[in-house]
Amino acid sequence: MKITFLGTGTSQGVPVIGCDCSVCTSPDAKDKRLRVSVLLEIGDKTIVIDSGPDFRYQMLRAGVKRLDAILFTHEHKDHIAGLDDVRAFNYFQQQAMEVYAHKRVQESLIREFYYAFASVKYPGVPLINLNEIKNSPFYVEGIEIIPVEVMHYKLPVFGFRIGDFSYITDAKTVSDEEKEKLKGSKVLVVNALQKEKHISHFTLEEAIAFAEEINADKTYFTHMSHRLGKHADITEELPDNIELAYDGLVLEME
Ligand SMILES: [Zn+2]
Ligand SMILES: [Zn+2]
Ligand SMILES: [Zn+2]
Repeated sequence: MKITFLGTGTSQGVPVIGCDCSVCTSPDAKDKRLRVSVLLEIGDKTIVIDSGPDFRYQMLRAGVKRLDAILFTHEHKDHIAGLDDVRAFNYFQQQAMEVYAHKRVQESLIREFYYAFASVKYPGVPLINLNEIKNSPFYVEGIEIIPVEVMHYKLPVFGFRIGDFSYITDAKTVSDEEKEKLKGSKVLVVNALQKEKHISHFTLEEAIAFAEEINADKTYFTHMSHRLGKHADITEELPDNIELAYDGLVLEME
């Protein structure tokens, strides 16, 4: 399995429009963060988790020629806004895009992209095939995916475990039962927004405590705000087995 971080930023991305803070003006490429998404290449199958506003550019930047499925964590705009751009894959693959999402998330997709779900479709609209997922394991192209339900303040969000890789975004609290599903992961990805308290996201300190509790061989932080600080500065503060992810980071796993 090959994992490519397509985006590691929070909802506004980094830099933030109009911001001249030291992170937003940093010349370090690792301080440029598109909205959060990850590409999984497993055998000859290609899956992305979330298609936010930067989806089109992320597909171009990572050179993705074929996409088999999109898994959605939740319905916030920074995770779904780019779905319209599956049109290119529809055209080249001559089929609808397989989308996996909770029923509640599907309702948002149908509201946001109503034209793609109209009974009589205008030519050229995105072709999307919705697959409902619940909090139990499911298969995508023969690959087992285990959902992990985390809480984003009051909104349930799905993380996903695939083999020894676990990906959690937009978590603020996680029940003991759901944490159990993450145990034994070799690689854990989890959100770490900023140092200051936040109602719906782990702070840096909370993300470190979570990483230490799950105790994966390696943990990478994602969904970061410009307020977290510069990649190089925060990296120095982290324990050995925790790193900040950055856009373009590639991991290879068995
Ligand atoms: Zn988000
Ligand atoms: Zn800034
Ligand atoms: Zn969110």
